[in-house]
Amino acid sequence: MHELTLLYGVADRVRKVCEENDIPHVDAIVLEVGEATAIIPDFLKDGYEIISDDYDFLRGSELIVDTIKAIGRCRKCGCVYPIVENKGHCPECDSFDKDVIEGTDFLIKEVRVMEDD
Ligand SMILES: [Zn+2]
Repeated sequence: MHELTLLYGVADRVRKVCEENDIPHVDAIVLEVGEATAIIPDFLKDGYEIISDDYDFLRGSELIVDTIKAIGRCRKCGCVYPIVENKGHCPECDSFDKDVIEGTDFLIKEVRVMEDD
């Protein structure tokens, strides 16, 4: 489950952000995960339950996963289409040959911190 490795990487980066900004605890982390990354959002969420307990600044916080659709451009006819819905085949010409133009990113989109009033 490489999701755990990814999550430790996320925790490290968020810790740096927290240290630089004097944030003692985060409430939620929002990740952007492309469908073409082969990362499984449910594994990320399950893994987060495990790893967030290892860090004071993450304990009790929530992981939110924004899934980004994988979009391909057909190399034969240029059609742009959602890859998963079409099972990887161009809906116009049925070619499997494509460039993935969206949905390959895995990134930290947002770190949410509750405001003190
Ligand atoms: Zn095509």
